[in-house]
Amino acid sequence: KQLLKVNNLQSEVESQPILKGINLEVNKGETHVIMGPNGAGKSTLANVLMGHPDYKITDGEIIFKGENINELEVDKRAKKGIFLSFQYPQEIPGITVENFLRTAKTAVSGEQQSIFDFKFLLEEKMDLLEFDSSYADRYLNKGFSGGEKKKNEILQMAVLEPKLAILDETDSGLDVDATRIVAEGITKLASDDNAMIIITHHNQILDYLKPDFVHILVDGKIVETGDIKLANKIETTGYSEYKGESLSES
Ligand code: ADP
Ligand code: MG
Ligand code: MG
Repeated sequence: KQLLKVNNLQSEVESQPILKGINLEVNKGETHVIMGPNGAGKSTLANVLMGHPDYKITDGEIIFKGENINELEVDKRAKKGIFLSFQYPQEIPGITVENFLRTAKTAVSGEQQSIFDFKFLLEEKMDLLEFDSSYADRYLNKGFSGGEKKKNEILQMAVLEPKLAILDETDSGLDVDATRIVAEGITKLASDDNAMIIITHHNQILDYLKPDFVHILVDGKIVETGDIKLANKIETTGYSEYKGESLSES
């Protein structure tokens, strides 16, 4: 049942300590939300879990499906079923959403995707997500709204079928439409066989999601874990009490 176990994870970026001992356990079937103020280390945690080469592990371990993956490269982690949503910031001329996703599926599954079979898979996923079929033929990011870029992330997740999906909602300026697309996508794709970690520093998405756990990440540490009530509390009080805590510690 256990998918991910993170023990005392510490990480540096450009010789600066950013993660200062993260402990986290994620089982199949669970949705976890990680909240925290700007600069707390949320995106760093996401990148370290995915194996981004800029983020060095200085201590602790990442256990995925019972195996220590500290030294595993990004593509190998992806093949094992870890997914970190990513956005291409600029448009890529001549590449349609469908081509882009077929290439990604080939890379992650290690199996060449025939155009015909992949079209079928993609249609199935787009039906599930209730995306208009014309979306697949659009050029990647060309004239995409915030919501349409989010659709691409959710569709990536649907097509790649990860065991552990990490969604980093880096963009605080998400409109209601984009937030709803993400939340509905997560709800539809969550199953007893996978798990989700949703990183956010705003509460909006929690109006639509039912997380099993909410973790507060401040200054490189998880300072509190609770349920949705914890997120609601943060909405009124903010993070100031935790900031004080970590200041007095150091
Ligand atoms: P959050 O996602 O919680 O807002 P981040 O993980 O993005 O926080 O950043 C945590 C700290 O690490 C910040 O002080 C940030 O400046 C630093 N940091 C993160 N990534 C990099 C990087 N690639 N290069 C330099 N500093 C970084
Ligand atoms: Mg940030
Ligand atoms: Mg971030």
